[in-house]
Amino acid sequence: MDDGTGLAEALLGLAGFRVLTVVEDVLEVVIDVETIADFVGCGACGRRAEAQDRMAVDIRDLACFGRPARLVWRKRRWRCVDADCDAKTWTETSPSVSARTVLTRRAGIEACRQVGMNARPVAGLARELGVSWSTVMDAVEEHGRPLVEDPERVGPVTTLGVDETSFLAANPRHSTIYVTGLVDLTAHKMIDMVEGNRAVDLRRWCAEQDPAWLAAITTVATDLAESYRAGLDPHLSHAQRVADPFHVVRVANRCVDRIRRRVQNDTLGHRGRREDPLYKIRKLLLAGGERLNDRGGDRMLLGLRVGDPHDELLGGWLAKESVRDIYLTDDPEEAAVLIDKAIAGCAADDVEEIRSLGKTLASWRTEILARHETNASNGPTEGLNLLVKKVKRCAHGFRSFENYRLRVLLHTGGVTWPTPASPPRIRTRSPHSDA
Ligand SMILES: [Zn+2]
Repeated sequence: MDDGTGLAEALLGLAGFRVLTVVEDVLEVVIDVETIADFVGCGACGRRAEAQDRMAVDIRDLACFGRPARLVWRKRRWRCVDADCDAKTWTETSPSVSARTVLTRRAGIEACRQVGMNARPVAGLARELGVSWSTVMDAVEEHGRPLVEDPERVGPVTTLGVDETSFLAANPRHSTIYVTGLVDLTAHKMIDMVEGNRAVDLRRWCAEQDPAWLAAITTVATDLAESYRAGLDPHLSHAQRVADPFHVVRVANRCVDRIRRRVQNDTLGHRGRREDPLYKIRKLLLAGGERLNDRGGDRMLLGLRVGDPHDELLGGWLAKESVRDIYLTDDPEEAAVLIDKAIAGCAADDVEEIRSLGKTLASWRTEILARHETNASNGPTEGLNLLVKKVKRCAHGFRSFENYRLRVLLHTGGVTWPTPASPPRIRTRSPHSDA
């Protein structure tokens, strides 16, 4: 490395290329490069090929010392000297730059890592790199797909979580579209995502899995969705079904919310507004009773006294607390007593929403109590759902389910990223050493 170009090549770090010129302008560093292959043989007949012409191809690379970098590859076209040879002419290629894209391989891998591992928006990276949205998405597809489809990514699973998230909000053409997330509750990772939340969707996914893998699953935790309960048959009927606490409590919370909205409407003639007494306490109503301090408790009671003339919402709140009580104990027998108390209390109520909650509890009694026997919880599913929402928010909604699945699995699916070796650490200088 005794001349200037040797230094430039060391900085470029792209095997098989030499630097011709480096030009810097305000927006980017432009580096003219060519391959070091000055002599090549014909792929068909092996004779030494003749250089025909060149074409310049613009390629975006990783930023160079904080400045966007563009490579201009003076790509050679070669010609076989034998006029009868089938090879005729061909353009040179490099493993560092795939012919289908305008990104170097390393820039594509980095873009994929930013989008997948860090859930960064594709559009932001496209802007940063100065390439199109689809170029970045293609890189995520090219480098991310193999990580997601890697058979080693999902190992044996004993506790499976099944949970829905919304994929596309309702619009004039379709109602809300849901997807089903399949989660390894022990390893805390997303196994897969399936379009739809119907029994057939879950069943179809199960049918595609290795029967031995399915047989090893001992517990399945779901929310209180009839479709999932039905979808577990026949492939997962051997596993114990558990309704996880988070979703059970959520059903009770929804009951409270429903009553609040209706009572608000009945008494005030409109939906919740900021100054409405019940709207003001909507969050206190959903908090666990044991978590309310004196002040919170007083505010809630005051709101109920003013806004709930027939004690309907109070009844809903008590029903919700009776559901939470089921999880105060770890003892299966005590839990059975508590759930039966909750079911009986709901059944005896005049309020329609509360009776409906009682019916749901009765229908899922076995699965709810199974929680106390297996100790399986969908807690991890909820943590993952937050990550899924992060991916969704960053992408400002998705239109393609396959893109969505890819990006969610890259972010939450426990993929093994090709880790760059960490460089030697540069230590912080001690304040006294310069003296
Ligand atoms: Zn030839």
